[in-house]
Amino acid sequence: MNTQNQTHFGYEQVAEAEKARRVAGVFDSVAQRYDLMNDLMSGGLHRLWKAFTIDRSGVREGSRVLDVAGGTGDLSLAFSRRAGKSGQVWLTDINNSMLTNGRDRLADKGLLLPVAQCDAEKLPFPDDYFDCVSVAFGLRNMTHKDRALAEMFRVLRPGGRLLVLEFSHVWKPLAPLYDFYSFKVIPRIGELVTKDEASYRYLAESIRVHPDQETLKTLLEQAGFEKVEYFNLTLGVVALHRGFKF
Ligand code: SAM
Repeated sequence: MNTQNQTHFGYEQVAEAEKARRVAGVFDSVAQRYDLMNDLMSGGLHRLWKAFTIDRSGVREGSRVLDVAGGTGDLSLAFSRRAGKSGQVWLTDINNSMLTNGRDRLADKGLLLPVAQCDAEKLPFPDDYFDCVSVAFGLRNMTHKDRALAEMFRVLRPGGRLLVLEFSHVWKPLAPLYDFYSFKVIPRIGELVTKDEASYRYLAESIRVHPDQETLKTLLEQAGFEKVEYFNLTLGVVALHRGFKF
């Protein structure tokens, strides 16, 4: 087998095409219960992490925003409240089940946003278009993070900013407790709520193989972003990386 085309799927090494297929399987499986599981697993903390992200976005009335891997639309909803009627907020995701749930959920709140099903590695948007691009809990699942970051850089206008909210590497003393929670408790909750333990084991594993704070900062810089900084949230359980295109 050609090892150059291998990548991680959690702790497993798989062919790149196989990773995309299995990630799709995970999100097809969890889409219906995705929001409930987010609240249960994080004890509601994901709402605070997302609110912090919005606060760092600089999005205001009239802004153009791209929510990459936007799933069920939490960030898109908050962005569109800030961008107002004169703004433009796109909800995008590669997965039809997640996107359909997101679109319906926003429609139930009276919001009709433009939606596009697309791969972050090939964004169907022009160069230099958006004021802000976000990707929350999505980068970890992408096969070629460098290509996805290059695309996000391309579609940002000069002066625009990228926000990457993602699980990260927790403060060391907390690691044993966090490991217990991630590998023993979360898959159990997943089994009870979605009848799918494996997807939640993938969640825990994919976090462990995702680049740590400093490595991700370097990846953003390699993609061309400047003034890159990160904010550890909940002792590094999650980190928000922010970078600018100049
Ligand atoms: N952003 C939402 C949130 O914070 O609740 C959803 C995050 S969910 C954990 C991860 C999302 O990434 C899924 O909806 C999945 O379909 C999407 N995704 C995975 N690979 C992708 C890719 N290559 N391009 C676009 N979206 C992708």
